[in-house]
Amino acid sequence: MFKKAIDLFKFKQLRWHEPGAAAAKEQCPCCDYVTLPARGYDQICPVCFWEDDGQDVDALDIGSGPNHGITLREGRNNFKQFGSCELAMKKHVLAVDERDRFEHKPRHF
Ligand SMILES: [Zn+2]
Repeated sequence: MFKKAIDLFKFKQLRWHEPGAAAAKEQCPCCDYVTLPARGYDQICPVCFWEDDGQDVDALDIGSGPNHGITLREGRNNFKQFGSCELAMKKHVLAVDERDRFEHKPRHF
C-alpha cells in the first residue's frame, strides 16, 4: 500500500512527453521508436515507458537508476516480449496500433 502511494507520487513527478511525431527527433534506446524530442532529459518514452536518463545502446548491461535498476538489454528484451520496458509499466504505454505515429528503426544487438 505504502509502496503503491510512493509509485503514484513518483509518476506525478515525471516529465511526460506528450506523444507527437512532429516533436520527436531522437530514438528511444529501449524500443527503437523515434519518440524523444532530445536525449538525456529523463523523459518517458510513450511507446515502452523507458525513462531516458541518457544511457545508450553502447551501455546495454549497466543498470539504470531511473528505470528501477534494470539494464537496457533487459528493457529491450522486455519490450520485445510484452511491449513495455518493464511488465509493471505495460498499463501505461500506448496501444500497439497507436505506435504508428512514431517512426520505428529497429536495431539488433
Ligand atoms: Zn521506448
